[in-house]
Amino acid sequence: MRYTASVCKLCRRVNVKLMLKGSRCLTPKCAVGRRRKVMGGGGRRRRVSDRGLQLLEKQKARYTFGLMERQFRQSFARAEKQPGITGDNLKVLLARRLDNVVQSLGFADSRAQARQLVLHGHILVNGHKLDIASSLVKEGDTIRWRESSTKTEYYKQLLESIQAKSVPTWLTLNRETLVAQVVSLPVPDETGAMFDSKAVVEYYSR
Ligand code: SF4
Repeated sequence: MRYTASVCKLCRRVNVKLMLKGSRCLTPKCAVGRRRKVMGGGGRRRRVSDRGLQLLEKQKARYTFGLMERQFRQSFARAEKQPGITGDNLKVLLARRLDNVVQSLGFADSRAQARQLVLHGHILVNGHKLDIASSLVKEGDTIRWRESSTKTEYYKQLLESIQAKSVPTWLTLNRETLVAQVVSLPVPDETGAMFDSKAVVEYYSR
């Protein structure tokens, strides 16, 4: 089951702005900005164990990408099987998810909204509808809107608002046609993932 309660609660739980609500996160309405206490902490500082810190990093990553534990664990298992550094592999795998790419391109304000766009079939990859948010993009893939979706009011407004948005270096976007391409797979530093992947690896190593 997907997490459906207020996502701000997740930010408060890890006491980090996870940016789960898009532009609202940049306003004074952000719950983390208003209240710095960790939920359940009672306002008193507690010493957090190494295990607790590892758990925190794992939860930060999981909440950021909106994944249930089972899904996150699957991504981790896949990262472990790949050659190279598991933590780096994990960052890249999460970045390559179609819902993350749709959000990174600025098509949606948040990953949750990006997931809805994908699930509702608005997005084509290499000319074919792909409505699985966890699909991984590959180098050379093109991402565009379904023809009928370009008639929607949402798309028309997006054409205006997207002009001011930047996209990660591993993606390109034509801001007139909203056709995007994966120029290359990201290196870990290009993923924008804000969690300590080493701590996540340590968490699952026990
Ligand atoms: Fe997190 Fe955004 Fe809510 Fe702030 S507004 S607590 S960053 S989801």
